[in-house]
Amino acid sequence: KPIVALVGRPNVGKSTLFNRLTGRRTAIVDDQPGVTRDRLYGDVEWDNRKFTLIDTGGLFLEDPEFRRDVEKQVGKALAEADVVVFMVDARVGPLVEDERIAQELLKAKSRTIVAVNKVDNFREQDFYEFYRLGLGEPVPISGLHGLNIDELLDRIVELLPEGREEEKEEGVRVAIVGRPNVGKSTLVNALLRDERMIVSDIAGTTRDAIDTSFERDGRRYILIDTAGIMKRSRLKRGIEYYGVVRALRSVDRADVVLLVLDTGAGVVEQDKKIAGYVEESGKGVIIVINKWDLHANMNVFRRDFEAYVRAELDFIDYAPVHFVSAQTGQGVDKIMEKVDAVQKERSRWITTGNLNSWLQEAVYLNPPPGSGKHGLKFYYATQVGSRPPVIAFFVNNPELVRSSYKRYLERQLRQAYGFEGTPVRLVFRARK
Ligand code: GDP
Repeated sequence: KPIVALVGRPNVGKSTLFNRLTGRRTAIVDDQPGVTRDRLYGDVEWDNRKFTLIDTGGLFLEDPEFRRDVEKQVGKALAEADVVVFMVDARVGPLVEDERIAQELLKAKSRTIVAVNKVDNFREQDFYEFYRLGLGEPVPISGLHGLNIDELLDRIVELLPEGREEEKEEGVRVAIVGRPNVGKSTLVNALLRDERMIVSDIAGTTRDAIDTSFERDGRRYILIDTAGIMKRSRLKRGIEYYGVVRALRSVDRADVVLLVLDTGAGVVEQDKKIAGYVEESGKGVIIVINKWDLHANMNVFRRDFEAYVRAELDFIDYAPVHFVSAQTGQGVDKIMEKVDAVQKERSRWITTGNLNSWLQEAVYLNPPPGSGKHGLKFYYATQVGSRPPVIAFFVNNPELVRSSYKRYLERQLRQAYGFEGTPVRLVFRARK
């Protein structure tokens, strides 16, 4: 069962929430005289999902040692949790201690939900300053009065790891998609032929989907639906359609997608459709151009062909383009390095401080059109999600953000931070 840990400073209201969620009211008296403690573990069921809730308050946060040793303590306790609910107090705002806990949670890359407690009437100004913790969108609640607990539970359940067996398999999940005959199965063979890899087959979601898990240089990967790729491609219409559906399903399950093109046929409508789907799904993407060996004048070819592909697929202009020959093996061993790099970019968190220095400069260099009394004003930005990165901009009025200015911000963002191979989402919210 997944584990959800409740953390926060003393007196923010952890045990009240814990008792409400687990439906328990009794406190247990500790062995030590005079020490009353609430239960530490309890089971919660919501939306047909079950998880174990741990109140870490009783574990370590009340400990005076905690102040001196925050890093070690938080790290150890949270390493085991699947989701962390970090509780803060709306009445006192984020304190230095809250910020230190937030930093540790960021460092530990925990999946965290900030629950702002003691919000008894829902005014945004009571909790919006907690965005500054850089841990995403806070959920205002009242543990005591039971307000907004459903939303908190929804958010927790959303972050729980998938129950299905195959999703437990660790490693970066890679989908190889492309039209028939571009060389997908040859590429799979070339990838798995490498003797530095340890390979095993695992059952996928659909009946006949077999994924392949492999290890290379101490890192694990899952190649999605290798069975589907290895099937000899047939060119009958019906089967081709099936191929597209299957490709989209593989994209859904992937972290990083290898979009394979062939130097002969170039980019066709189907490639654009799949690339568009990859972008919408927020997956990482690498454009792999196969059959490079067929071109005698490789460097000239490479430059021209890359320009052509980029123009055709300009809506994923952040994708790296990588040339290979699956047949000769040329370039194949670099693919997994690229996959790692893209997955890393997709998983990045930029600190709020860093992002705001960037935002100030970006707005200074190119102020939004029509600034002045009724113009667009930026207050600050903070990252609220990752895989793919989601950056929230707090502005006076989101309706004033034109798409050209949004594109400008995205360009600047990529210039400053890279994010190669991953979509980024920019969202604009009103600060009241
Ligand atoms: P799939 O339908 O995408 O899985 O494509 P295949 O892997 O079955 O390859 C289709 C054809 O292209 C086969 O005849 C392969 O031998 C050939 N092929 C694949 N990769 C390369 C390559 O890098 N160079 C050349 N010259 N031919 C290739």
